[in-house]
Amino acid sequence: MLLGKIRSNGLTRRQLLQWLRTISTGAVVVGPLSACRELWERQPVVPVESWHKAVCRFCGTGCGIQIGVSEGRVVDVKGDEYAHNKGRLCIKGLLNRDILYTRDRALYPMVRHNGELRRASWEEAMGLVAKKFREAIEQFGPDSVAFYGSGQLFTQESYTANKLFKAGIGTNNVEGNPRLCMASAASAYISVFGKDEPMGCYQDIEAADCFFIAGSNMAECHPVLWERVKDRKSSRPETRIIVVDPRRTSTAKGADLHLDILPGTDVALYNAMIHEFIGGGFVDQDMVEHYLSFKEGDSARDYQDLKRHVNRYAPKRVAATCGIAAKDISTAAFRFASSNSTMSFWTMGLNQQSQGTVANRLVMAMHLLTGQIGRPGATPFSLTGQPNAGGGVRDTGALAHALPNGRLVANPRDRREMEELWGLPEGQISAKSGYHTLALFEAMERGDVKCCLVMGTNPAQSLPNAERYRPAMDKTFLVVADAFHPTETTQFADVLLPAAMWAEKEGVFSQSERRYHLVPKVVDSPGEARSDLEILLELAERLGHEDLISSRTPEEVWEEWRKISAHSKYNFSGITYERLKRERGVLWPCPDKSHPGTCRRYVPGEDPLAHGNARFDFYGQPDGRAVVWLGDQHNPKEPTSAEFPLVLTTGRVLEHWHTMTITGKLEALQEIRPNFVQIHPADAARLGIRDGAEVIVRSRRGQAAFIAQVSETIRPGVVFTTFHSAKHLINRVTNDVYDPLSKQPEYKLCAVSIKPKGTTNASA
Ligand code: SF4
Repeated sequence: MLLGKIRSNGLTRRQLLQWLRTISTGAVVVGPLSACRELWERQPVVPVESWHKAVCRFCGTGCGIQIGVSEGRVVDVKGDEYAHNKGRLCIKGLLNRDILYTRDRALYPMVRHNGELRRASWEEAMGLVAKKFREAIEQFGPDSVAFYGSGQLFTQESYTANKLFKAGIGTNNVEGNPRLCMASAASAYISVFGKDEPMGCYQDIEAADCFFIAGSNMAECHPVLWERVKDRKSSRPETRIIVVDPRRTSTAKGADLHLDILPGTDVALYNAMIHEFIGGGFVDQDMVEHYLSFKEGDSARDYQDLKRHVNRYAPKRVAATCGIAAKDISTAAFRFASSNSTMSFWTMGLNQQSQGTVANRLVMAMHLLTGQIGRPGATPFSLTGQPNAGGGVRDTGALAHALPNGRLVANPRDRREMEELWGLPEGQISAKSGYHTLALFEAMERGDVKCCLVMGTNPAQSLPNAERYRPAMDKTFLVVADAFHPTETTQFADVLLPAAMWAEKEGVFSQSERRYHLVPKVVDSPGEARSDLEILLELAERLGHEDLISSRTPEEVWEEWRKISAHSKYNFSGITYERLKRERGVLWPCPDKSHPGTCRRYVPGEDPLAHGNARFDFYGQPDGRAVVWLGDQHNPKEPTSAEFPLVLTTGRVLEHWHTMTITGKLEALQEIRPNFVQIHPADAARLGIRDGAEVIVRSRRGQAAFIAQVSETIRPGVVFTTFHSAKHLINRVTNDVYDPLSKQPEYKLCAVSIKPKGTTNASA
């Protein structure tokens, strides 16, 4: 559809692709009315009958969108000028319309007979699902079934799934793909502040004088926010941008200082920066005396212990470890600490490593120690990859160890509170944490989990060391609810349930800054597809939990959920459904209907839950003090060797989304093929690899074929590719070790070899 429209304006496919490539270099990305969008809006394909306020269904930036509808179809989308993104969208945002009308939509329920998925009625499909779940629960107990969800489900859907499994069925086997992307950030927020989720907001961008961007290619993964960073730099040229990344990404090209760090060594870097804060007199003593405590493992520590600890991390001592010049580390530390206000952004580069929680804690510590926190422009801020990993999964507690609003399964008081709020007898919520993601698929491998409902995600492609877990999916009674078929995961489904998409169903997303906002249903779903909420309600009914799962519409579920939040430190009971319909989202905490929402948490006078007149009330912690955690750099879990001499790191490109089940269907993006692996010219020359040559990337676990892209974008010793393509499945190669604290896998770092295709040990 996009292509048709472009053609109607006289643009050729070549020009379109040129435009897309321009975008991918970060040169244009977005604008209130980018050149292409102006063309779109001058000649809409069909006149729009009505516009509807909504939110983009892709990244955690959560841009406001206006959906144009005509004759029961979405015919146009444009940025919402009244939302925080002020009308801007990136290419994926513009494609929200086209993704509804691509090929391979799942239209009918399907049930596997003799190895083949065949069309079935909803009655047959759901009858079979309920029978299998009931039999497993009766024979093997509630922990023999599981739910595996997604940061792309609406909050109402994740909340309902969590309640059905934990309160109804009686198992904490509720997991989701946010474990793969955000778990380390969540684990760090909870251990530092006592509660999950960032304390700052997007408005901080317009007040920051220094941006510290680590392990995040914002220009491609959160492009509209990156535009705001660039705007700040343009309007105030003395603003500094520091980027920590092993690649010279589009984001790094916009930096004043690029630290091209060796993957997996950033814990040493942050310790070195803290060393420089202390040595340079940049530590805020008021913070140390009144607002911070110090810990290392299970032991209490103090500021003097921290000083001794970081003495081992002087820049000269860590320069070789990190592959960064000592003077650059000192410069980064000076700029971070001495600016009027420093804002940090990070995503998967920090989170997806075996020291993910430690790295996250240290970035938070850098802000706490220097007092770069709780003022306009001064805040640590983790970015979410998906549109609703925060509000949908983290806030509702739809993870194996969690309960709603920051409560934990392991805490008896938290369990009792939720039992009371859900009207359950004491002891109904199991005291045993469920399986975290990799443990869940291992349990399926052993046969301990017999049935699993997978909703809105594609683990057969997205799990690290993916080949290992495919037989486990084959062995399990797997129910997959997805808007598309086939995917890598639906090939293992025993039952496929066709799911409605964005704008075909109603629900609430919450993006990176804790803003809850509503996506309305404006068109019908194709075929017999149903919303994930409808699927969960039917499963609840068939399993005999209809009295517990009594909220049946998106509005009823939201009303239940916001009232439950009133009993927590996440209080957003003031965000009524009526407000969601009227406003461009509201940031929590928001404890009453007249409250405008909170930009900065823990700051008395701004955060309605913070008490007193002091600078901070870190009310998530029992003593009101945020915790600075001492942490050491560990050796890599999988060091390079003579056989595997390079470090592999993975990521994304601007135009495609996750495992490409959606964007891979769009004709306009067919030539944007993430089939490349980037390698530095020195490594390429040494290994006899030409630019454009077919190569095999291999690790101890498996191999995948790519096209070599010889480029100085990547530092020597490191290779990069994306996890988008099923055909070039890099997750055959990645490592399934994980952070022991957050249980998040280490996608960003494993040892590989790379050889031209056809050479020894390199057959495809
Ligand atoms: S930046 Fe993210 S939320 Fe905004 S339009 Fe692009 S993909 Fe959508």
